[in-house]
Amino acid sequence: MSDIRELYQQMIIDHGRHPRNFGHVEKPTHTKLGQNPLCGDELLLTVKIKGDIITAIKFQGKGCAISMASASLMTEALQGKTIAEAGKIFGAFHQMLTNETNDDSQVERLGKLGVLSGVRAFPVRVKCATLAWHTLDAALKDDDQPVSTE
Ligand code: ZN
Repeated sequence: MSDIRELYQQMIIDHGRHPRNFGHVEKPTHTKLGQNPLCGDELLLTVKIKGDIITAIKFQGKGCAISMASASLMTEALQGKTIAEAGKIFGAFHQMLTNETNDDSQVERLGKLGVLSGVRAFPVRVKCATLAWHTLDAALKDDDQPVSTE
């Protein structure tokens, strides 16, 4: 394992064990439950949008280290971003996990979210890594149905 992979691994474990922005946003404008039955990951996302800016975003839930780390990193990355920016970041993040060309310049552009790039080697875990993002996507669309990756 290269040093960078080892560092990524450590960051995933750290965020998985001590998730950032864990909790419930006060008076959220958007709330959504996301589930990945395949792995047993479950999270409740609460978001506060003012204008088109994400002013607060938190999650609560339980699941594997990858799902928790991804939700933690997502809430950090999207704090203060516009909805359009969040959409772009999700697009790039999703591409990083499904793109087989291993374009590392893209991973660098994603900053800390790049620590999850190793997940692309494990297609089953991609659902764990994208759960929080799909949940946010549905929350912002005001879709009434809970999100399930199945
Ligand atoms: Zn999982």
